[in-house]
Amino acid sequence: MDRILVTEKIAPEGLATLQAAAEVDVKLDLDTAALNNAIRDYDALVVRSATKVTADVIAAGERLRVIGRAGTGVDNIDVEAATRLGIIVVNAPASNNVAVAELAIGLLLDLSRQITQSHQSVQANKWERSKFMGWEVRGKTLGLVGLGRIGSEVARRARGLEMHILAYDPVVSFDRAAQIGVEIVTIEELLVRSDVVSIHVPLIDSTRNLFDAARISQMKRGAYLVNASRGGIVDESALLAALESNHLGGAATDVYNTEPPSGNVLIGHPKVITTPHIGASTAEAQMQTGTDVAEGILAALSGGTPRYAVNAPFVAPEAWNVLGPYIRLGQQMGALCMQLIQGPVRSYELEYCGELAELDTHPVRLAVLQGLLTATSVERITPVNAPLIARERGLRINERTCPEAEDYAGLLIIRVNTADEQRVFCGAVLRDEPHIIQADGYWVDFIPSGELLFTYHRDRPGMIGRVGAILGAADVNISGMYVGRLAPREQAMMVLTLDETLSPVVLDQIRAEPDIEKAYAVSLIKFNQ
Ligand code: NAD
Repeated sequence: MDRILVTEKIAPEGLATLQAAAEVDVKLDLDTAALNNAIRDYDALVVRSATKVTADVIAAGERLRVIGRAGTGVDNIDVEAATRLGIIVVNAPASNNVAVAELAIGLLLDLSRQITQSHQSVQANKWERSKFMGWEVRGKTLGLVGLGRIGSEVARRARGLEMHILAYDPVVSFDRAAQIGVEIVTIEELLVRSDVVSIHVPLIDSTRNLFDAARISQMKRGAYLVNASRGGIVDESALLAALESNHLGGAATDVYNTEPPSGNVLIGHPKVITTPHIGASTAEAQMQTGTDVAEGILAALSGGTPRYAVNAPFVAPEAWNVLGPYIRLGQQMGALCMQLIQGPVRSYELEYCGELAELDTHPVRLAVLQGLLTATSVERITPVNAPLIARERGLRINERTCPEAEDYAGLLIIRVNTADEQRVFCGAVLRDEPHIIQADGYWVDFIPSGELLFTYHRDRPGMIGRVGAILGAADVNISGMYVGRLAPREQAMMVLTLDETLSPVVLDQIRAEPDIEKAYAVSLIKFNQ
C-alpha cells in the first residue's frame, strides 16, 4: 500500500479520501531535519504553504512520486527539482472560486443597500430610515476586470441579479465570454460604462497599481469599486481621494496593500466596506481544497492524470536538441504577443513552417500557450497546466503547417486575430538561438529575452536620438537596437533591448514624445519547463 505523509492540516474530507486508498501519517510541525529524515518512507507528501519542500527534501524522498499542495501557489515547493526527478506536483487552484465570487456579490449588494452602514446605525440606537436610500443592482452594468475562474463565477451570479455584464481580460476569447453571457470590451470602455467595477486579476507586475489615480478617474462618476482580489492592485490613496471628491460612490475591499492593514487610509471611511481577507473562508472551500488535492495525489499514485498537475516531463530527452530552441522561441513569442497586444483577442493561429513542420509540434504549441498565459498569471504556468487554463479561458488556437520557410530552416508564425485586425509575429532559430524576425509586419531581427522597449512611431530624423536621450537620462542602458519601417518617413517600429527595467514613468515620457504613437515595455523571463 502507498504511504502518504501529511505535514499540515487539511480538511477531514480530504484526509478521509486519502485514508480510503493509502496509509496516511499526519505529522504536523516537522522541522527541516525531521522532514528530510521522514520523507524517505513515503510515496506522497501533502503540504499547505508552511512546509518548505526544498531540493534536499525532494532528493531525500527516495520513494516519492507525488507532492500535493492544498491550495494554489507552489512557491514553497522546488518544482524544478521535482520535475528533474520525475516527481509530479499537484495543487488545488479552483477550490475557492465560488467562495470568493459569493463574497464579491455580497459586497456589491452591501454597497447598493448600505447594509453595513445601516447595521452600524441601528447598533448605535439610531433609526435613520431616510438616510439609507439604496439603489437596485437590476439593470445596472457590472464591469469585471479579469474573467478567470473567480471572475466567471461572479458573472454567472450577476446574471441572476439581472445585471448587464462587461469584462476586460486579455486572454479570454469572445466566444468564451459569450458563453457566460458577458460582453468583452477594452478596459477603457469598461471603466466608462460600468456602474460597479469588480476586480478579479492576479497581482503581477502588470497589475500592480492597475487602479491608479488615472484609471480611477476614467470610471463613471458615482460608480462603485469592489476588490476581492489582492492588495497592491488598487492605489488606496487614489481610491480615497476619489471617494472624498465624490467621483466614486463607494468601495468595498477584502484585501489591502499590507495585511493586517494597520493605519490604512480606507479603514473607517463612511463610504468603504472592509472585510478581513475572508474571500476563501468558507467551510465548503476548505473542504474542496482538501478533496481536490487528495484526488490529485491518488490519481498520480495510480498512474492516472491528475486534473491539476503543475509539472511533468513533456519532451523526450533525445528530441530536446532539435525541439528545444523552438520551444524557447514559442514561449518567448507567446509572452511577447500577450504583452504587446493588450486588447481582447478572438483567436490565435500558429503556423509551423519548414523543418518545424516535420517535427512533433505539440510541445511548441504548449510552449506558446505557456508564454501567453504566463504574462497574465500569478500561477506557475507549465506545459502541463497550460492547456487546462487555456480551455478555461476559451483561448482558441488553430494550427497549420507549411513545407516552405523562405530562407530559414524553420519558421514559427503566430497570427493574432483581435476584434478588428490580424497581427503577425514570425520567429526562427538561428545558430540554436530563437530570433524574432518579423513583428507586427515589420522586419526586425532580435533575440527575444530580457527587457525590451517597443515603439510604433512615424519615421522622422532624430527619433531614435530622442528616445535614446530619455533612456540615457533615466540611466537605462541600451544593449541593442532594431528598426523596421514600411517606407521612408512612414510608419516604423523600433525594438530596443535594455540592460535595465523600464519604469512606468520613463515609459510615459516616451509615449508623450511627438510622433510616438504607441510604446510598450516588454519583459521576457527565462521559462522553466
Ligand atoms: P485566474 O488566474 O483564474 O484569473 C485571473 C484572470 O485575470 C485571468 O483570466 C487573466 O487572463 C486575467 N488578467 C491578468 N492580467 C489582467 C489584466 N491586466 N487585466 C485584465 N485581466 C487580467 O485567477 P482567479 O482564481 O480567478 O483569482 C482572481 C484573483 O482573486 C487573484 O488575485 C487571486 O489572488 C484572488 N483571490 C482572492 C481571494 C480572497 O480571499 N479575497 C481568494 C482567492 C483568490
